[in-house]
Amino acid sequence: MTAHATQAVLDRAAAGGRITPEEALDLYRSAPLHALGTAADAVRRRRYAGTEHIATYIIERNINYTNVCVTACRFCAFYAAPKDTAKGWTRDLDDILRRCAETVELGGTQIMFQGGHHPDYGVEYYEKHFAAIKKAFPELVIHSLGASEVEHMARISDVSVEEAIRRIHAAGLDSFAGAGAELLPARPRKAIAPLKESGERWLEIMEIAHSLGVESTSTMLMGTGETNAERIEHLRMIRDVQDRTGGFRAFIPYTYQPENNHLKGQTQATVFEYLRMIAIARLFLDNVAHIQGSWLTVGKEAGQLSLHYGADDLGSVMLEENVVSSAGAKHRSNRMELLHLIRTAGRVPAQRATTYEHLVVHDDPANDPVDDHVVSHLSSTAIDSGKAHPELKLIDAS
Ligand code: SF4
Repeated sequence: MTAHATQAVLDRAAAGGRITPEEALDLYRSAPLHALGTAADAVRRRRYAGTEHIATYIIERNINYTNVCVTACRFCAFYAAPKDTAKGWTRDLDDILRRCAETVELGGTQIMFQGGHHPDYGVEYYEKHFAAIKKAFPELVIHSLGASEVEHMARISDVSVEEAIRRIHAAGLDSFAGAGAELLPARPRKAIAPLKESGERWLEIMEIAHSLGVESTSTMLMGTGETNAERIEHLRMIRDVQDRTGGFRAFIPYTYQPENNHLKGQTQATVFEYLRMIAIARLFLDNVAHIQGSWLTVGKEAGQLSLHYGADDLGSVMLEENVVSSAGAKHRSNRMELLHLIRTAGRVPAQRATTYEHLVVHDDPANDPVDDHVVSHLSSTAIDSGKAHPELKLIDAS
């Protein structure tokens, strides 16, 4: 594409026109970075006219209920094979409820229940746990799991995915986090997650969930050796489903972490590739409301920059996280720092709900929260190398 033709496509996208996968690939490969970001930011500003000065964040906790997993993804540093009893662990319900209590105590609003595909955990396991969480903490939103877990639990319980979704939704699951999308096109998916369902099946299950009134977010794992064309194909697959269902609230790309997994870090996405993906997602996914920047895997500065490349949300203060931390993600943050990052990007921070409504708009720095309790990785006790923060004692475990 000539420079003139590239700018014409960027102008069309910035004005709200739809771009084709071929155009998206051309832009992703060769549009000047700054022009790409300018067009993506124009789209964001138009979509959020009136609140375009705001960037959101959420306070949440990942609760890892088990690392035992039969699926053995090659990028994963978290799982233990069922026979590996030295490495494998499970959390009991009391432990899980204690972690929920700490989340509420610290102002968290969302739980990401996240774990391996345990060979014994069918629909009943999730029904029991979601019902118990909702009974004890009705204010917590359970935004968790994805199509891979649904496929697995339905198989274990020998029921359809429709039934599995209906039952866990009735028990308390509010929305799907879209876990397990990784790369949806067949070649990279088979290379990194050969035992997972196909990308088409992942989307089919999400489409069923949307039809049953259970919305989700969508994700992409970048940097495991996929091509640029495969990244754009991933976006196309999501956009096509979204045209039918409208059930994806957000798109969240994040980058592969290289430690302690079979892929050994032979490939990784660069910060520039990540920022280009944020921008191209904002331009191409014209039917997805929210594009989330993530400081956890790419770092705080790149996360902050993502707000200038089309992102309207900077993810979360994740009170507990073990999965990407196991693979080497070392970035840590807290609410005060997240407010600072958003503000120094020229935006007003707002704490949001799972469904993206603004809960608190921090429009006056004088009113910022001053406590230092809301810290990411407050508890990383689930892995051997994890260091429990002293504040874990905030709530008596008894
Ligand atoms: S990514 Fe999930 S499904 Fe894959 S091995 Fe890790 S825990 Fe299991």
